[in-house]
This record gives sequence, structure tokens and C-alpha cells, in this order.
Amino acid sequence: MAKQIITAGTVVGEYEEKYVLDAVRNLGNPDHFKDYVYRFEAEFAKRLGVKHAFAVVNGTAALHLGLLALGVGKGDEVIIPDMTYIACANVVSYTGATPILVDIDPVSWCLNPKAVKRAITPRTKAIMPVWMYGSVPAMDELKSFGIPIIEDSCPAFGAYYKGSHAGTIGEVGAFSFQGAKVLATGEGGMLVTNSDEINERARKLADMGITKRQFWHDERGYMYEMAPILAAVGLGQLQHADEMVQKKRQIYEWYRKRLAYTEFGTNSENESPNYWMSSIVVRTPEERDKIREHLKRNGIDTRPFFYPISMFGLYEKKVGNIELGNSYSYYVGLRGINLPSRVDLEERDIEFVYEKIKECIKNR
Ligand SMILES: *Cc1c(COP(=O)(O)O)cnc(C)c1O
Repeated sequence: MAKQIITAGTVVGEYEEKYVLDAVRNLGNPDHFKDYVYRFEAEFAKRLGVKHAFAVVNGTAALHLGLLALGVGKGDEVIIPDMTYIACANVVSYTGATPILVDIDPVSWCLNPKAVKRAITPRTKAIMPVWMYGSVPAMDELKSFGIPIIEDSCPAFGAYYKGSHAGTIGEVGAFSFQGAKVLATGEGGMLVTNSDEINERARKLADMGITKRQFWHDERGYMYEMAPILAAVGLGQLQHADEMVQKKRQIYEWYRKRLAYTEFGTNSENESPNYWMSSIVVRTPEERDKIREHLKRNGIDTRPFFYPISMFGLYEKKVGNIELGNSYSYYVGLRGINLPSRVDLEERDIEFVYEKIKECIKNR
């Protein structure tokens, strides 16, 4: 069978192995076993132009800690997009707060500021814009409501809004290094913030609520810190991260040249996505299934978009007694396809994917 064309996944560069080996050799050294964690955090913060970066077990933990550090808890509401990864709703509910599922923008596929405005109540404690597939939320409009912002920038390493890196625009931001992301450590995450207070709160809660006194805990915490060996992988990935983001943009351009349907992205020139995933939205859910099956038969892996969370019956799309419409979340969520966007793809692979998509849609 021909080469499998894969949707996502990183490539390993020159430094990952070298750093991991060094990290393993230092594991037994009480003064140095966490060196790679500190180096990864310092270099990540420097790259993003943010004061603090705190390495954690995954992106979900970074989001959870971010909410806790903002003081979100029982009785509060947090506004999130309906079409997003389930983690966004779950972390809100872990704190005892209620996720309010709000519609997306049809172009950026990120939180729709008009819908957010209608969903704000006196209980709204935070807004969580998601940088969906690496595209850029309308950050200025979302900030204008004066409510703390926690950015789910999990997949958005290398994406910018008006020159500011994803995750650094709100009060706190979260990144994921899960294996499919641009910058990957297998599993892993990072919390970033310019606030000393949020950084300190997050670090304390991620170490079982530890105080300055050894083994003395004055609140219930979690075990969320990143393992040093994964930090070594992350530091290695950072050394060639620019090239990987560059390649994502190139892949997007290759698709864009061929597919008028590749309408993901930018509402304005202020927005610079990282094109983690090149994606299309087709006409009907049935057409999506047909295309995905045809591609699969030809060795081409794709992914469906996230289903709107409100479909699962786990969380309601309601503010008080008012039902929210969320029609764009349903339109896009049921018709979107992430196309192969792995950084090692070449233009002839993209051409092949395009040919196969064309075979499906030529008769409609
Ligand atoms: C990947 C991702 C996450 C979760 O990250 P994990 O590291 O798997 O916990 C959350 N939100 C979005 C938008 C993501 O793409």
C-alpha cells in the first residue's frame, strides 16, 4: 500500500534525544534532576514574551489551574465556545462552576463576541476564548467586556494576534504538547501569565497545595507538574519550532491554492494563525462522511471537527432559562474536516489529497 498520509503529529529534530539522555543521566541528582523543567519554562517564556511559564502534565491541567488561580469556583459561570474540545467544559465543571456554551464565529471558528455579550450575567467570572485549530479569536472585542480572560491557546504555539503571542493576551493562557500539537512532548502542557500572583497560585495548587514549610499543606491541591524527561523533549522541540510553524503555513498555502473551500482563518490582517490544521467545511454532514471515507480508502487520514459540546447531553446550552442557538457551532462542527497537516508532508501529498477530494465533490 502507498504511503499513509497522516493528519497531525510532530517531527523530531536534532536535540530531543541529546537532551533526554542528559535528563536521564541527571535523574538521580537531587540538585539537578529538574534542570530541564526550568530551562524549558525559561525558554518558552522568553519565546512568547511573557513573564511566567509553568510546565504541567497536560493542557487540560493548565486550563484547570488557570481557572483556579483566577478564583473560579462554585456558583460562577465561565463562557466557552460550544464547538471546542470537551476539556474546556470539563475543567470549568471541575472547579464547581458552570460552563456556558456560546456560539462561534463562522469565519474564525473561535468565540463569537456578539454571542458572548448576550451570555454575560452577574455570575460570569471568566471568558475562555479557544484558538481553534490554531486560528485567532477576536481578542480585543472579548477583552472589552472587562471580564478576566483565560485563553485556551492549547494548539496555538506560533500564532499571534496584533503581534502578541497566543496565550499572553488574557490574564492566563494554556498550551498543550500532546502528540498531535505543533510542539509536542507526547503529553504535556504549559500555563503562561504575566501575573506573579496567578503564577504563584498555580504552582502551589499543582504541588498539592504546599506551603513554604516542607510537607505542610494548607489547602487541597493537585499533582500537576511536568516530568523532567518530557521537559527535555520540549526544549529540544523549541530549537526547531520556527521551522515547524513555517511548514504548517506552507502546507496551508498549498491547500489554499487548490481548495476554495479552505475558508479557515483570518478576519483581519491583525491575525496570524499557526495553521496547526488546514481544514475545510463542506456542504452537508453526509458529504463530510463521504469525503472522509473516500480519503480513508486512499490511505489519507482526516479528522472530523469537534462536535458541539451541547450535543453530548453533559452540559446545557443555557443562560438562566434562556436557550442559546449556537447555529454556527452546529453548522461548522458537523461539516468540518481537518485535512492532513503533518509537518513532513510535501506538495505532492497535498496534491494527492486535493485530487481525491475533487473526485468526491465533482458531481454535486
Ligand atoms: C489539545 C487541546 C486541548 C487539551 O490538551 P491536552 O494536553 O490533551 O490536555 C484543549 N483544548 C484545545 C483547543 C486543544 O486543541
